[in-house]
Amino acid sequence: MPHIIVSPCIGVKDQSCTEVCPVECIYDAGEMFLIHPDECIDCGACVPACPVSAIFPEEDVPAGEEEFIVRNKAFFGL
Ligand code: SF4
Repeated sequence: MPHIIVSPCIGVKDQSCTEVCPVECIYDAGEMFLIHPDECIDCGACVPACPVSAIFPEEDVPAGEEEFIVRNKAFFGL
């Protein structure tokens, strides 16, 4: 399961995650960044890089943030 970016990224877009992702699967989605679910290799490198703790493995997305799982996939047509 891929990593998911959730609400704290909105309006922040620090870009630290994009700098550390080894497969460049984090894309600019306007108000936030989103991770391509099929390209993410689940390495976890982006998690500690995010200054607002907005990135989680899909299975650990916090309660109330589940809509971002759908939003991530929908953005990439999945
Ligand atoms: Fe990129 Fe790894 Fe984060 Fe997936 S878990 S978005 S591959 S840095």
